Order: sequence, then C-alpha cells, then structure tokens
Amino acid sequence: MGSTSQPLTIAILGGGIAGLALAAGLTKKPHLSVTAFESILAHRDVGAGLALHLNAIKAMALIGPEVRQAYLDKATSIASEADQEIATEVILAQGPHAGQLVAELGRAKGRKSVSRADLLDGLLALLPEGTVRYGKKVDKIWTTQNGGKDEDEFKVCVGFGENKGFFEADCVLAADGIHSVARGHLLGEDHPATKPKNHDRWQVYRTLVSAEEARGQINERWLTTVPILLGPCGHVNVIPLNKGTRISAGVAVRGVADSKEAAGGPDDVTYHDSNDGDKKQGLDPGLYADYSEDAQRIVRMVAKDTSASWSVGDHDHAPFYAKGRVAMLGDAAHASLPFAGNGAAQALEDAAVLDHLFSRVKRVEDIEAALRAYDATRRPRSQAVVDLARQFGRVYAYATEDKMHEDPERMRKFFGGWAAFTNNADLGKQNDDAMRAYEQFLASGIGSGVESRDFV
Ligand code: FAD
Repeated sequence: MGSTSQPLTIAILGGGIAGLALAAGLTKKPHLSVTAFESILAHRDVGAGLALHLNAIKAMALIGPEVRQAYLDKATSIASEADQEIATEVILAQGPHAGQLVAELGRAKGRKSVSRADLLDGLLALLPEGTVRYGKKVDKIWTTQNGGKDEDEFKVCVGFGENKGFFEADCVLAADGIHSVARGHLLGEDHPATKPKNHDRWQVYRTLVSAEEARGQINERWLTTVPILLGPCGHVNVIPLNKGTRISAGVAVRGVADSKEAAGGPDDVTYHDSNDGDKKQGLDPGLYADYSEDAQRIVRMVAKDTSASWSVGDHDHAPFYAKGRVAMLGDAAHASLPFAGNGAAQALEDAAVLDHLFSRVKRVEDIEAALRAYDATRRPRSQAVVDLARQFGRVYAYATEDKMHEDPERMRKFFGGWAAFTNNADLGKQNDDAMRAYEQFLASGIGSGVESRDFV
C-alpha cells in the first residue's frame, strides 16, 4: 500500500513564526512538496518585539543553521559585548522591596531581540520562491477519498472560501495562530478548549518609538537590555528592536480588558481611541505614582499613545494536537500569555520536532504515526508553558493567593526553577524521544491507514 515515488504533499496553514520555520526545514527534504497558506497579504510591523530565549535559538539550530542565522542577522544585540551573558531582568518596581531583582529569564551569551516582522522576513528569504501563498485564508478542512481503497488516495483538503478554491494534501500542519481554524476542526467548534480565553482580562498597551526619542524619556540602561518591572497596577517592559534603532515599550494590565474573550496575536491588534472616555481602554500614569521612578517614566512614555493595544489570551489544554493526518502547532495548539516570553520558543520547538520526524516520513501511511509521536512529545511540555505564563502574569501583578511578592527570595526560587525548565531543555533529546515514539507507533500498527479515514 502507498507509493514512495511521489513526494508527499504537505500543506502548512499560516505563515507566522511556526509556519515559516517549519517550512524552512521541510522544504529542504526532497521527499516532501511543501506549500504554506497565509491569510494576510503581507505582515505588518505592529511593534511586536521578541526576546527569544535559549530554547528558541536551540530549536532554530535543530531545524538548520541557516534558520538560526536568519534570526541572528535580523536580531539586535542586547549586550554591548558580543559574548556578554544577558537575561531578561525581572525587577520589583513597587512596594517595600522595590528595586530588587527577582529573576533572570532566558540567560544567554550574545542575547538578542528581534521584531516579529523582521524575523518573518528572514525566514521567508530561506524558502524557495512560491512556497508561501499569501492572501489565502483557510476556512475549512475536509477529506476526500476518491473512491479508492488505498491510503494514498485519501487526501486532506483545505478550502479558501466559497468559489475561492481548495488545495489537496497528504498532510496538513496547521500553524494558523491563536484563532486557528484547524483547532476548531480537530477539537470541534463546541469543545471548551477550542476558543482562546483571557481568563484574567489582561490588556497590553504598547508603543514603538525610536531609540533617539526614548533616550530623552527613560533610563538609558533600558535601551540595551530587557527589563520587566513589576507591580500591582501592571508590569512594564521594554525590548530593543530593529538593531537597536527602535524600542518597543509596553505595560500589561490585569483585570481591565472588556471581556474574557481573547483578541489574539500581534496581527490581530485591536485599536482603541485613547480619547474615547472609557478609562479601561486607556493607561493612567497617575495609578503608577508609587512605582519606581524608572518604571513611571516608561509608563508615561507608553501612555502618550495607547491607540494600539492587545487584549491577550491563551488556550485551555487541548486533549490532543493531531488526528489522522492533520496536526496543529505553535499558537494554534497552545497559545500562551506573553509573560513567560516563551510562546514563539514553544512554536519553534514544535517545528523542530515535526521537522525531525518528517525527515523519516516518506510514505502516506506513516504520517499518522509521526503526528501521534509529535503530540505525545510536545503536548505536555508546551501546555506546561501555557500554565506557567498564566502563573507568571499573576506573580507579576502581585496577585497570587500566597502573596509571593512579599518574599523576593521565594520569587527568585519560583522564577529560577521555571527559567531552567524553559531555557535549559535538551531539545536534541526531545527530538530523539519523538523519533523513538514514532518508531513505537509504527511498530504497534498506527498508520495502517484505516484509522486515518475515521479520524479526520
Ligand atoms: P502567529 O505568529 O500568530 O502566526 C499565525 C499566522 O497564521 C499569522 O501569520 C496569521 O495571519 C495566519 N493565519 C491565521 N489564520 C489563518 C487562516 N485561517 N488561514 C491562513 N493563515 C492564517 N514569544 C517568545 O518566545 N518570546 C517573546 O519575547 C514573546 N513576546 C511576545 C510579546 C507579545 C506582545 C505577544 C502578543 C506575544 C509574544 N510572544 C513571545 C509569543 C509569540 O509572538 C507567539 O507565540 C508566536 O508568534 C506564535 O507563532 P505562530 O506562528 O504559532 O502564530
């Protein structure tokens, strides 16, 4: 059963970080024919800055040295010395312990930050012309069987809307972000974990300013490092972008978003008129009067223009990431609040594992075993990060029941343990574990072809 001569057709949904990184790996494999579909016509630079942790960089390197290099070429050094170790510094900005450093996240030599739009440009440049089809919004996924019995005659189709055509593939890998169509297809539209939620009603206010402009307004030290300054009214952070020429500064406020419905990722920015009279949509620097002067200055700078703000959200745990020959990855599978700084890193870890597995998947009937191995390997770790980011947010807002903010030493232990979990993971071993699981699924008969048709 099955044919080995034709390349397997892979449809990637979404041309974000997960989709493009995965495409960069899969397009190098001659036994695969890869097309990615992206709903928007071009990515906008909306000021989303990423300070990628070491696990993100290790995941990119596993996909290929050129992927890591594409990131390095677009990123700006946070440190003044190339080999200086730099971490995201989490500092208390309010209360009796103000000024105390309670965590160093993502510590790495030569640590950099990058604008999301720049990173996407760098990844896109690695792909063969025509790999990504822009302006293709997937609205439906279904299967065809062509009346044949052979497994390779069964296809997964993605549709682009009424009279807008469809694409037939052997496998669909969906990286279509927090509001994923594939997630609805896999879990069911009514499943409680399908739609993202903003459980703590977070609102993120963010501004983009030139480094020159920021220099006169905030502590110069924050132009070359990544601080997160904590307090009960909101936490403040700054990320240098575009090779240090601009900075993205933000304030994340808990409990003020209009509802628990999540707006979504950086391309789903909701614009609010800061003069609309609704205090919830604005950022009032007066509320930060008991914060450190450093933090207050950043708040004042952000408050000058709060027209662009995200109402963030995350996913409750999905019971599985794959069924038959359809899988989801990145934010589609496990969107998390941005507070642990590891959403993109987890998306890249997904891509690294799938890329590794698909180096061995050469027959249609083996796809399902690979996707099950991906699910078994990646779901527990990525869902732990979703929970972690939620918990980070509560700690940042001095809102944990055990009042952790009153004990900086306890905070240090909490953050230290979790930073090691995300940052120091052995991703080579994760890839090996996935491959071992794949072999076990194959040996146990998963991928016989019968189940697949029942699944999707
Ligand atoms: P996305 O980047 O959202 O990409 C999904 C893509 O799919 C988009 O291009 C979208 O247009 C497309 N799409 C959507 N629907 C469809 C459809 N129906 N058909 C076709 N295409 C579709 N992570 C970190 O690791 N470090 C950080 O420092 C960090 N900081 C962050 C700061 C903020 C303010 C935010 C909001 C997030 C941050 N993250 C960070 C998280 C990170 O940005 C996300 O986890 C990451 O972008 C997820 O990548 P993705 O490719 O899965 O999804």
